Order: sequence, then structure tokens, then C-alpha cells
Amino acid sequence: MTTHPTVTLPEGMRVMTHEQMRAVHDAVRDAARRVSVWGYKADEISYDALAAAGVFVPPPAPEPGTCTAQFLPTNAREHGPGTLGVWQACVIEPRHEGSQHTSGTVGWHDSNPGAVPANPADKE
Ligand SMILES: [Zn+2]
Repeated sequence: MTTHPTVTLPEGMRVMTHEQMRAVHDAVRDAARRVSVWGYKADEISYDALAAAGVFVPPPAPEPGTCTAQFLPTNAREHGPGTLGVWQACVIEPRHEGSQHTSGTVGWHDSNPGAVPANPADKE
């Protein structure tokens, strides 16, 4: 089983394991073929539908050369389609000061639900 960084989410919400994400992807692609829909479009629809239900994809690997803090927007009142359930990666330099991060479009604090603080291994 693949693990990913621990993230604290509002009650009832969760992040899928990589194995569950693979199973969703395979089921969506099979269904897309049956109903003649492009697979990438079906993926987009399925991930938005899962996010609306509070089930999210695992975080991607952090980009090299940037802060490793990540954030999962889970509040549908604050984040619209295209951002809700889409992992945000901090674009500030590694080991920057403070606990406030930004992806350029979304800002967050390490204490916010959905925040994954920077990897302590980066703080040497
Ligand atoms: Zn940061």
C-alpha cells in the first residue's frame, strides 16, 4: 500500500489511497469507452464528483526547488470548480520563513484543514 503525507481534513472527508485512485481511474476509463466519452474528460468529471462528496485524490510529489508545503482546498464555499479538491503546492523557495504558503492563486497557513506542512527534512 502506498502512503502519502498526513493531512487533516474536515470530518467525513478523506484522501484516496493510490490503489483506490487507480481503481477509480480504471472504472472511469472502462465506462468512458462504453459510452464513447474521451477518457480525460471522464477523469475530470469523476474527480470533481468525488471532490463534491469529500473524497480526494492523493497529493502529487512536490516540485523540486520549492517549498514542499501543500494544501487541499476542501471548502466548497471558499473554493470553486477547478480549485476545490485540486492540490496546491507552495511556490516559495524551500525553507522559507513562517507558516504561510501560497500556490500563486491560493494562500494557506499550516494550521488550516487540508494543509500538509513542509517536509521537516527540508528544514535542515
Ligand atoms: Zn511554503
